[in-house]
Amino acid sequence: MPLTPEQLRTFDRLIARRRDLLAGKLGPERARPRDPPARRSADEPAPEVDDPPLEDAIADLEDAEAARDLQELRELDAALARIADGTYDRCIDCGRDVGVERLGALPTTLRCVDCQRRDEARPAQPDLPEG
Ligand SMILES: [Zn+2]
Repeated sequence: MPLTPEQLRTFDRLIARRRDLLAGKLGPERARPRDPPARRSADEPAPEVDDPPLEDAIADLEDAEAARDLQELRELDAALARIADGTYDRCIDCGRDVGVERLGALPTTLRCVDCQRRDEARPAQPDLPEG
């Protein structure tokens, strides 16, 4: 059964609150979607590459917890977007209703129980070469 508008509003509030909590913990710098790096002095010519990905990787390693929080933040954002879309309670794999009970337990879940089980049953690294 699809979610009622009232249930959707409840999830929206729940997720938005959790999102705000995480965003506050991470700080505005990390919670924001990727922006260009801060302005440099106008007198200096801007270097060709001013945002090396390596820097991000190191920052992530140094702060694994923040990386996890950031990941959750993304999932919460995606859930809020799906609520806005009207696709929140629909399984991304089979298109059936995920169900309010499952969403209640896992508000950021993307799949129904069946598809999730199938997804988890898949080998973690199917492309691993033999030998
Ligand atoms: Zn499904």
